[in-house]
This record gives sequence, C-alpha cells and structure tokens, in this order.
Amino acid sequence: MGNPGFSAISEAADKRSARCSCGSVEIEVFGTPITCVVCYCDSCQKGSGQIEALAKADPILDPDGGTAYILYRKDRIKYSKGAELLKSYKIEEKSPTSRVVATCCNTAMVMRFDDARHWVPVYRARLQNDIPPLQWRICTKFKPENARIPTGIPSSAMYPPGFAWKLLMSKLSMLLRR
Ligand SMILES: [Zn+2]
Ligand SMILES: [Zn+2]
Repeated sequence: MGNPGFSAISEAADKRSARCSCGSVEIEVFGTPITCVVCYCDSCQKGSGQIEALAKADPILDPDGGTAYILYRKDRIKYSKGAELLKSYKIEEKSPTSRVVATCCNTAMVMRFDDARHWVPVYRARLQNDIPPLQWRICTKFKPENARIPTGIPSSAMYPPGFAWKLLMSKLSMLLRR
C-alpha cells in the first residue's frame, strides 16, 4: 500500500494545470519548467495585442508591454480537456509561430512553433497552482518607448546567455529521454 500512494503524491506535486478563464480548456504540464520569462519582443507585443482584441479576452500584456511565459519541453505538455476548442492565430501567415487560444472565452493558452524548437511557452497567467517565479525579462530593447521595466529579476536587451543554456540543456535531456 505505501509505495503506490507515495508515487501518486509525488506525481501530483510535479504536475501543474493551465486553464482558460471559463474552465472549458485545460492543459497539464509536468516536471520542472525550462524557465519563466517576460518577453518584450515585437512579435509578442503584437501577438498578445491581437488576442487581447478578441471579444471578452482577458488582458495578456503587462502594463509595461511584457508577456509572461513559462517554458516547458513539448513532451511535457498534455492537452487534457477541451482541445477541440483551441484555435491558432498567427501574426503573419508564413510565421512558424502560432498563438493558441481557447475559443470558448478567447483566452491565450500556449505558443506553438512549426519549426524544430523543442519547447512550448505557456502563458503564465493560465497556471492555476504553484506558479514558478519569473527568472528573466528578455528582449527589452523592443519595449514600448515609455515603459519602465521593473527591477527585481535580471533584464536582457535580447537573450541572456543563461537562457540559451537552459534551452540547450533541456534539448539534451529530452534527447536522452530524461
Ligand atoms: Zn474558456
Ligand atoms: Zn517574444
């Protein structure tokens, strides 16, 4: 009896849920995220703005123009509920990047890449439990002119070396199936 019970608890502790604002769509993410960042790049600003403009959509952009994400390996994500309600938006037709929205309530859920990128950014505001702390503010050179970037975590004009390193390490551990 002891062992199975213990493993159920540790699995639960290792799992987080991302939910749309009405609760019809749910995504489960497993394990430690790669990292948590706020991105100020032009396409995140444009993409978040595009989704915010949909009917009844919750705000996505922070007041300073940033969008907060938690990055997971794409093998650590499960579309557990309401996957048929998801719809992809692109800011340009040929872009490999889609922003995936729960159409029930126009909530931005995740970003998806058509290219070889091995990670999925989950919109941090969708996480329901045990939300990991932010690590970096990235691409701040694209921030809106008058925006003041909060201090407290490191900011980088583009991508900090530690960020690239974490992505690389997560690719390796994925290849090694760890
Ligand atoms: Zn919904
Ligand atoms: Zn971005």
